[in-house]
Amino acid sequence: MKITRFLIGFARSLVFLFRRPIYVTLMGGPGAGKGTVAQTLAPELGLAHLSTGALMRREVEKKTPLGQSIEKIMKAGKLVPDEIVFKLLEQELERPANWRGAILDGFPRTRAQAEWLTALFGKWHTRLTVAVQLEVPEADIIERLSGRRVCSNTSCGTTYHVTFNPPKTEGVCDKCQSALMQRADDKPEVVLARLVEYRAAQAPILAYYGEVGGLWSIHTTNKNTPAQVLANVKSAVLASSKR
Ligand code: AMP
Repeated sequence: MKITRFLIGFARSLVFLFRRPIYVTLMGGPGAGKGTVAQTLAPELGLAHLSTGALMRREVEKKTPLGQSIEKIMKAGKLVPDEIVFKLLEQELERPANWRGAILDGFPRTRAQAEWLTALFGKWHTRLTVAVQLEVPEADIIERLSGRRVCSNTSCGTTYHVTFNPPKTEGVCDKCQSALMQRADDKPEVVLARLVEYRAAQAPILAYYGEVGGLWSIHTTNKNTPAQVLANVKSAVLASSKR
């Protein structure tokens, strides 16, 4: 087991030596557009799209004791404990299929998570390419979340908006024809709790990336098209990967 881990680590270091991975953290409040950007940009750049929210929901679906405790925390609009998030995320980053790099959507959400990521990449002799912060006014976030719909098939998970990005047929996913649903944590009372928690956690993360470098803030409103936001994030990633 120990020797397997060593060999995998060695192979990863070799791969990283010849092709530096691109790691992006896409941050922003609930409904800032992280998922929408990541699900288009990741395949375009050949990167994995790792959403910690989606990893948690996948665990909830398994109905294991761990999944049940995660479900309670998510329903209350709270953050899942670090040790659970770290384990699930590291497992995904370690997969050879994800060695080209990844767009992390919804991670880090605390300074401790940001520090853990820096340490993990340091251990792998690489680093975070850029920390992208999507800034959206609060009123725009509420308008977005109340109309957000997600595909009920978790292995698809495509997101839509009843006004800004409607599916071709109302209530049906364009990609896999499964029913669309409103996430339990997009209900107004849970959204408010998530915004309070987000604001408290965000300031130290921004301060952290201000100290270590690599922070790129992008201001958007509901007047911007998804294509404009995507183009801005893509330029930030490509410019930073040349540093
Ligand atoms: P999201 O899909 O990113 O909005 O996340 C949905 C929920 O999953 C959050 O409200 C948290 O309960 C949980 N979650 C997602 N990412 C994290 C994270 N990095 N740390 C802790 N909890 C998380």
